[in-house]
Amino acid sequence: MKTSDVIVIGGGLAGFMAAAAAASRKQSVTLLTYGSGSLPLASGAIDFFDAKIPESAIKDLPDTHPYKKIGAKALDDATKFFCEITAQANLPYVGRLSTQIPIVTAVGTLKYSALVPESMDASKIISKSKIFVVEIAGLKDFYASMIIDNLKKHFHDRTFQAVKIDLKLLGGRDITCMDAAQLLTDNEQPLANELKALNATPDDAIIIPPILGVAGNFSRDVVKTQLRADIFETTCLPPSPAGMRLQRAFMKYLQKSGVKILENSKVVRGVVEGKKVTGVVVENVVREKTFPARKVILATGGFYSGGITLRDFDKPKEPIFDLPVFFPEGAENWSNTELFSGKPQGFSTTGILTDDKLRPVDSSGKVLFDNLHVVGANLGGCDKIFERSSGGIAISSAFKAATI
Ligand SMILES: Cc1cc2nc3c(=O)[nH]c(=O)nc-3n(C[C@H](O)[C@H](O)[C@H](O)COP(=O)(O)OP(=O)(O)OC[C@H]3O[C@@H](n4cnc5c(N)ncnc54)[C@H](O)[C@@H]3O)c2cc1C
Repeated sequence: MKTSDVIVIGGGLAGFMAAAAAASRKQSVTLLTYGSGSLPLASGAIDFFDAKIPESAIKDLPDTHPYKKIGAKALDDATKFFCEITAQANLPYVGRLSTQIPIVTAVGTLKYSALVPESMDASKIISKSKIFVVEIAGLKDFYASMIIDNLKKHFHDRTFQAVKIDLKLLGGRDITCMDAAQLLTDNEQPLANELKALNATPDDAIIIPPILGVAGNFSRDVVKTQLRADIFETTCLPPSPAGMRLQRAFMKYLQKSGVKILENSKVVRGVVEGKKVTGVVVENVVREKTFPARKVILATGGFYSGGITLRDFDKPKEPIFDLPVFFPEGAENWSNTELFSGKPQGFSTTGILTDDKLRPVDSSGKVLFDNLHVVGANLGGCDKIFERSSGGIAISSAFKAATI
């Protein structure tokens, strides 16, 4: 079998970004993954750090933090490259590392992220005087009155109007936002007609659940061009059309760039010669197959995707290369007694530690493999959920590993 310049293991945000960045540098890339990845579950926003100015907060992190291994240049370049990929798929993102942009959540609170899909950019709502919140009959977990109650805390002196429309999707059965987005793709006119009937003006904002199609902003464009008011999508409970749009944008880029994508390919072990990984072994129903590579990027996610497993409480394992996994020693450091304690959770810092080239290291800091790089959720040493850095670490570590 032909040797790939780069093999990427894992089809989540980090794996897609790594494959795209390597392909953009004219590398031959094979992406091996199984399962649908977590992108269709994610909000679609890319969080870099929970601080007013993420860029400044990242500069102040300790040297052991994954962002310090990634470095400011890769962070910046990754952000630009991410925006290029999404723009090419008509899924423009807005934002940058020096700011946080609000998006309206499914319950009407505001969530701040550094990069958000343009369709969710709620910063523009600030200048609006009247806000319509549109509920769809039969759509689960979206209540206009609750959203308005919460939005009133942020947008004072505005007029709010709750509206309920019936698009007769699935004959009135309960549906999710993903169902609605799929049903409305290339069938946007019933929604456009209902929204036109609101007679909203350019001074108004229309807030709706994220149902504007599953591919880029194509459905949004059809609806928006028929309205005088601007239209804003909220987040929703998983599965999420915004995450699905991002997944599709990456798939489009990867296919166009000639990346070989092998789904349902579970990598079971690496093939190594001394400090070099020469390939990986994929298990399928009847036999095992070896894929040779010059460089391997491990983007298998953390606990949630099987990138790190935990059979015994204090022995987390990385199942493919048996890499050492950092975790906080002592049960008392494993978790806080209060879930919302305002402090990081020890178990969430579990993961693989690396050098500045994102190559795995042992407890003494020695690099274990010269051509293996670890990216995304399986990087250890910080609580990505607490500091809200999952997306930023995923795209920037992937970009660095692929372009180094
Ligand atoms: C519900 C939810 C909401 C989120 N919301 C946000 C948000 O608002 N903002 C934000 O910044 N981030 C958010 N994230 C996180 C964001 O999507 C992360 O960046 C992401 O989960 C980490 O990406 P990853 O690619 O490292 O891992 P994952 O997405 O977990 O992907 C790992 C992939 O590797 C595959 N894999 C694992 N083992 C193997 C193997 N042996 N062989 C082949 N393939 C394998 C898995 O099947 C999976 O496809 C959210 C995540 C979830 C789940």
